[in-house]
Amino acid sequence: MIERHLNYIAGEWQPAFGGTTFEDRNPADERDLIGLFPDSDAADVTAAISGVSAAWPAWAAQSPEVRADVLFRAADIMARRADEIATELTREEGKTLTEARNEARRIAANFRLYAGEALRLNGETYPSDSAQLVLSLRQPVGVVAVITPWNFPLSMAARKLGPALAAGNGVVFKPSEITPLMGQRLVEVLLEAGLPPKLVALVQGKGAKVGQAITASAGVDALTFTGSYAVGRQIAASLSTDTRVQLEMGGKNATVVLVDAAIDKAVATIERGAFGLTGQACTGTSRVLVARPLYAELVARLEKSASAIKVGPGMAEGVQMGPLATRVQYDKVLAYVGIAREEGGRVVGGDALREADSNLAHGYFVRPAVVSDLPETSRLWREEIFGPVVAVRPIDSLDEAIKLADDTEYGLAVSLVTGDLPSVLRFARETQHGIVKVNSPTTGVSLNAPFGGLKHSSNQAAKEQGGASVMDFYSRIKSIYLGA
Ligand code: ADP
Repeated sequence: MIERHLNYIAGEWQPAFGGTTFEDRNPADERDLIGLFPDSDAADVTAAISGVSAAWPAWAAQSPEVRADVLFRAADIMARRADEIATELTREEGKTLTEARNEARRIAANFRLYAGEALRLNGETYPSDSAQLVLSLRQPVGVVAVITPWNFPLSMAARKLGPALAAGNGVVFKPSEITPLMGQRLVEVLLEAGLPPKLVALVQGKGAKVGQAITASAGVDALTFTGSYAVGRQIAASLSTDTRVQLEMGGKNATVVLVDAAIDKAVATIERGAFGLTGQACTGTSRVLVARPLYAELVARLEKSASAIKVGPGMAEGVQMGPLATRVQYDKVLAYVGIAREEGGRVVGGDALREADSNLAHGYFVRPAVVSDLPETSRLWREEIFGPVVAVRPIDSLDEAIKLADDTEYGLAVSLVTGDLPSVLRFARETQHGIVKVNSPTTGVSLNAPFGGLKHSSNQAAKEQGGASVMDFYSRIKSIYLGA
């Protein structure tokens, strides 16, 4: 029996007004239909916004303990259901069960963090003469639109929904059309935790229809988006100037290996950053800049370890890398492997396992690829691939490392493998990246630390994650002068 899923609008589970649906399929086996989801349009978005607009003032007027309690309960429910939801995450997005469990288990911690923040929405008082008291009051923004990508469908959404709700806002939530079930699960957990029914609306559907309708709506007070630069730019261009917007976009992240680095450490760091999550993290490592004396050995070691990675369905025992999440991703990664070869690079891996292995014939499986000896003008150095493909290039100095690491339109995460403290300090201060990791992969961030990039990686309105800076986006400050 085909499962038919619904939108959640104005407190009711309901199909799209237009009655149409789209399919959600398993990327490890495209014959596996997970379910049908509402293919919503502007009419659903209008109803969603109007329901949330009516609901949020009562939520904002509640004591902060009440808002915190709902999020604490959501954390408990999420902790209880994490492994069950992780299994669905693997089926829907493709990542391995271990990766899915890591993501699902972190949601509880995320909700707890923001539950605490509900009680810390402090204002300030300002010195003044005795005739008045001057203070600032933090208030919710109102209706927050949350548009999320498919690669971390739980954690990207939780780190936006959590602070939005903690600060007293209502949310119109549009998950990626690639991972609608994970969006639904998150909303179910919040409702089970006691969230007022109309405070969150879930509108499933395509970016070009639902996403654009949200962006075009005058009823959205703030919009937070994580996804591609192309879409982020489109959103920024079409929003009304009254709408507060936070955009987190791509990356072309490098790991830099300095001459003192231990090769084992460098290989482990790169492998995790480049091939973890099938290379589909915005902080994933796609470039390696290595001190020339280590170049040949590092390339050989990376080729060997990439070839040993066990690729297969994320659900299967012992699998280290799942499929790409979509056919589009699969075709794109293979196209870049082809480009690398055409450009004269040495490519090890990058095979289309779908064609090569009959057990993998129905999924989007590729072998991780290590590319070396590319010309400096190669497209692989510049374009975001979003797959398990890493290009390696030699460097001759720290100056060159900084220059080349920053020689990209993006500026999200960069990692440095070295024990040389002066180099670390200089690199960390000078690089044009929002996140600098030392002796750890470009991927993997603390949920209480600010997250965000520079240049095309972010519109830099506010960082995501953490405390105060998050709340700056989800609340606004009013200055009050109390005269006697
Ligand atoms: P990704 O492929 O990494 O998910 P996208 O930028 O394509 O990146 O999508 C991110 C989110 O933005 C998804 O939820 C998608 O449906 C949505 N989206 C896509 N196009 C638009 C658009 N024109 N306006 C608003 N949202 C969109």
